[in-house]
Amino acid sequence: MARERTFRSEAIVLKRVDFGEADRLLTLYSREKGKIKAIAKGARKPQSRKTGHVELFMRSNMFFAQGRDLAIITQAEMVDGYAGLRGDLVRTTYAAYAAELLDRFTVEEDRHVGIYNLLADALGWLTESDDLMLAARYYELRLLSLTGFQPQLFQCVACSEPIQEQDQFFSAELGGLLCPDCQTMDRRAVAVTAVAVKVLRYLQSRKWETVGVLQLKRPLQHELERIMHYYLTYILERDLKSVDFLRRLREEAALFSSEE
Ligand SMILES: [Zn+2]
Repeated sequence: MARERTFRSEAIVLKRVDFGEADRLLTLYSREKGKIKAIAKGARKPQSRKTGHVELFMRSNMFFAQGRDLAIITQAEMVDGYAGLRGDLVRTTYAAYAAELLDRFTVEEDRHVGIYNLLADALGWLTESDDLMLAARYYELRLLSLTGFQPQLFQCVACSEPIQEQDQFFSAELGGLLCPDCQTMDRRAVAVTAVAVKVLRYLQSRKWETVGVLQLKRPLQHELERIMHYYLTYILERDLKSVDFLRRLREEAALFSSEE
């Protein structure tokens, strides 16, 4: 079957780099084709009609012409610009982290509407939520489920006994919680408090509308972040640039505030 020469899809801009004299090479997550790369011609010219609709983290209805190697964007109409992200460094940083994580967990041209919808929703949460850490944790757990890495939080990953809501251990290697009896199955397993067990399960099994109203204390937020990043880092087998950036950002913020 001949390859279609033109196609259209809603898509979100994950990444962009300068390309040639005036163009940009975009990494997109599209509704119809999953992750794709495409050229936005003339996107760096200030007068370009397309420029405003192919900004980072923007969701647009795009029309493409299939070139020999890369698709070329011929038209883009904005669906949601997530305006509240722009001009807010912390929100933008979280959006960059969400986009990078998705980029690392997906391969090109592997359509997955669930992942597309998750990203579109997550950008909305990161635009509006007062608790970006909670939104990030929720997004991570959802993304892990959709990509086949859902951590096992209800039964011990070694003995399959039901996990009680008490202090437990998390094994990145075995992919979930270890009961105290099985703790020695993975010497690198990390301790998880009873309340963190409870919240992780809640996040994994509820909708954002329910989860988003939780009020979590800072130490618990940091514990959840540590567990999730331990697991994500293990899966990706390398450190995420944005994770380091967020950590630095928080350390800097702490210097100027006595709240923490
Ligand atoms: Zn066990």
